[in-house]
Amino acid sequence: MLQEIKGLHHVTSMASDARANNAFFTGTLGLRRVKTTVNFDAPDVYHLYYGDELGTPGSVMTYFPFPNMGPARHGAGEVGTTVFSVPRDALGYWRDRLAAAGIAPVTESTSFAAKRLDFEGPDGDRFALLEVEGDARVAWTGGGVPADVAIRGFHSVSLRLRDGGATRELLGFMNYEVLETAGSVTRMAVRGGGVADVVDIETLPGAPAAQLGAGSVHHVAFAVEDRAAQLAVRKAIADTGYQVTPVIDRDYFWAIYFRTPGGVLFEVATNEPGFTRDEDPAHLGEALKLPSRYEHARERIEAHLQPLAA
Ligand code: ZN
Repeated sequence: MLQEIKGLHHVTSMASDARANNAFFTGTLGLRRVKTTVNFDAPDVYHLYYGDELGTPGSVMTYFPFPNMGPARHGAGEVGTTVFSVPRDALGYWRDRLAAAGIAPVTESTSFAAKRLDFEGPDGDRFALLEVEGDARVAWTGGGVPADVAIRGFHSVSLRLRDGGATRELLGFMNYEVLETAGSVTRMAVRGGGVADVVDIETLPGAPAAQLGAGSVHHVAFAVEDRAAQLAVRKAIADTGYQVTPVIDRDYFWAIYFRTPGGVLFEVATNEPGFTRDEDPAHLGEALKLPSRYEHARERIEAHLQPLAA
C-alpha cells in the first residue's frame, strides 16, 4: 500500500485559446494564476497554472493552450469532470455568477448527498462545484468572489472508464478505499482522509473512446510529500508491472507518469519545491518564467505567445 499518496496534486488539460482560458479561471472562477510558463516539451505553448494563493497541491488546475486546437471528443478513458470544493450554501451565488458570465447550461444536482453544479469551461471542459462541509482550506479571493463562497481547491476528479475494475484495484494500491457506490459511480478516497482526496470511477461500458483535444484533461497528478516518497512510489508502481517514466524535473515539482489500465494518464508529483521557488509570493504568475534551457530563446518565445490580461 502506497501510504505516500496524499490525494490530488494537480489536473492538466488542453485549451484552444490562452486568453479565454485565463479569463475563465481568474475572472469567472476567481482562482489565482500562480505560474506563467511554457510547455517544457513545446516551448511555443504556454503552461498556465491556476490555484489558491500559493498554488497549494490539491488546488492547481493547469493548462496547455494550443492555439486553434480542435475540440476534444469526450468518452471513455479520460478524466470526466474536475470537481472543486466550495462552502455550504455557496451554490446560489455561483449559479448567478456563472449565468452572468454567459455559461449555460448549468445543471444542479445532488451527488452522494452533496449539492453540486455542473458546467463547462471555454473548450467544453467539464467542471463541477460541490458544497463541502468543513473544508478548512483558505480560498484565494480573485475576480471579486467573496471569501465565504470562493473555491477551496479540488474535491475530486471522476474517471470515465469502460471497465473500472483494474483502475479500482490500482487506486486501492495507491492508498484509496471504496467509500460508496451509487449507480455507475464508485467513490474512492484516500485512507485516513485529507483534502482533494476523492476519485470517482464512472463505469460506461458502451461509451466510445475519448479523443484528446481542447477541453480534454491530459493527465491527473497525485501528490507525494517529497522526492524520497516519490522514489518509493515509483519503485512500487514499476514492481506491479506498470511502465513508469523516470523522474522528470518540472521546476515546481518532480514528476513521474504512467498510463492506467483504463487509458487515463496518471502522474505522481512532489509537493516540493512549489511555485514560490522562483517568484515572490506577492507576484506569483505575473512574469513569464522559462526553464533555464529556454532562457536563451526568451525573446523569440515571448514574441510567439499571446499576451494575457493580468
Ligand atoms: Zn502534470
